[in-house]
Amino acid sequence: MATAQPVSQVERLKNFVGGKWVDAEAETAEPVYNPATGEIIAYAPLSGAAEVDRAVRAAAAAFDGWRETPVFRRARIMFRFKQLLDEHADELAALITREHGKTLAEARAELERGIEVVEFAAGIPTLIMGRTLELVGTGVDAEMYRQPLGVCVGICPYNFPAMIPMWMFPLAIACGNTFVLKPSERTPMTAARLAELLAEAGVPPGVFNVVNGGREAVDALLAHEDVRAVSFVGSQPVAAHIYRTAAAHGKRVQALAGAKNHMIVLPDADLDYTTEAVIASAFGSAGQRCMAGSVLVAHEAVADRFLEQLADRSSRLKIGPGDEPGVEMGPLIRDQHRERVKGYIDLGESEGAQLVYDGRKAPVPERGFFLGPTIFDGVNPNMRIAREEIFGPVLGTVRVKDVDEGIQLINRSPYGNGAVIFTRSGAAARAFRRHARAGMLGINIGVPAPVAVFPFTGWKSSFYGDLHANGEDAINFYTDRKVVTARWL
Ligand code: NAD
Repeated sequence: MATAQPVSQVERLKNFVGGKWVDAEAETAEPVYNPATGEIIAYAPLSGAAEVDRAVRAAAAAFDGWRETPVFRRARIMFRFKQLLDEHADELAALITREHGKTLAEARAELERGIEVVEFAAGIPTLIMGRTLELVGTGVDAEMYRQPLGVCVGICPYNFPAMIPMWMFPLAIACGNTFVLKPSERTPMTAARLAELLAEAGVPPGVFNVVNGGREAVDALLAHEDVRAVSFVGSQPVAAHIYRTAAAHGKRVQALAGAKNHMIVLPDADLDYTTEAVIASAFGSAGQRCMAGSVLVAHEAVADRFLEQLADRSSRLKIGPGDEPGVEMGPLIRDQHRERVKGYIDLGESEGAQLVYDGRKAPVPERGFFLGPTIFDGVNPNMRIAREEIFGPVLGTVRVKDVDEGIQLINRSPYGNGAVIFTRSGAAARAFRRHARAGMLGINIGVPAPVAVFPFTGWKSSFYGDLHANGEDAINFYTDRKVVTARWL
């Protein structure tokens, strides 16, 4: 619950427009909580169309200068930005933990994954190179260039306050675009600090802008005539809305959506290693990750033994504020979200699944939005707890007789973000790699989020669009190709 802290003492965040912090005119604001204590720590103004317009215009005005900035100068700014992120890593991790609740180790890990994108973006001179082909006709040569689009927009979810914005703006900016970021209104503070560090790294005013807000700001961004491309990461229904609306306004769009990731465990897996990997995948960040494993697909020959190990490990999971030493799992983002997740546990019981470990009864701190880890057995693939994204520390177990049945289960899911297998069998791993219909697979890896040089390749209802975030896809997403065919007489 929120403490009765006087509003005047709590920071009201500003928007970052044209290189300056400006007050948002919006009267309404969303409270930002420290989920580990329940205290309100800031207010995120819910900007409207006028503020969005100001930020987009600033970005549009900066575009001509930035697109003409030599590519090596843009690369050097990325190197400098990376250096600043390293220097401020402790401060940034503490900020992530404060507004999101994840442990400091998880916050540092997310920051590392974001920094990885900046490192990739620093290679922009090579990444953005075009191609040439001589003699496409007699005396005729052809060449292809990549050029930036203009104003690009990023709309982010709450669960990775640093990494997900950094999936977007470093590559967009390195390509020569200008950018407007709309962070999650639930975790907007880290983005504000990233904006300051980026400016310190040498990005000129207007090249990077931040507008705080929610739906109204998003809808204004999607409709703005000066916006060329929209990168979105968030829940599936919102991703579908963004994809349709942005496309209807003629924007290029990539919309990364929700997930329901399966983890197959075969009898020949190393069970001690697999226990740690499954616990970390299902309960890391309190299950609030799009790559979290949420359906355990256990081979019937190993299910009893493995579930016993998982329940034992869950009972020893240290739950508490993310900045306390030794804590392994932090809180959920909001009380309302905790109630929603609890609702899914109630639902699982009423659907007939059996509780192996009940997170509602686990010892957790009184303050804050904590909920213990939950494990179900006897889950049937038609149950809602098996099909819907819960986005909390709830793991459902479906028992299967062999790897093929496990793969079929994955392929029936409407989502296709990630899937993993734990086994020592090359043949089983190969069948899984070849036939599982999900975009990011792990073999003896619990959270197979690709490194930044590869695209983040969700399939099915986990992604709307053509070109994914990161990797070569991102370079193509943030540029137009221009082909010149020339004959010199
Ligand atoms: P969300 O969809 O509620 O919000 C995401 C963004 O959309 C926010 O910036 C929010 O302000 C905006 N938004 C919310 N409702 C809107 C509406 N009706 N119209 C326009 N804009 C709207 O998501 P969240 O709860 O912040 O994040 C969790 C979700 O994100 C989960 O579903 C998770 O799986 C997903 N996610 C996916 C990936 C991926 O790579 N596929 C990565 C991280 C998170």
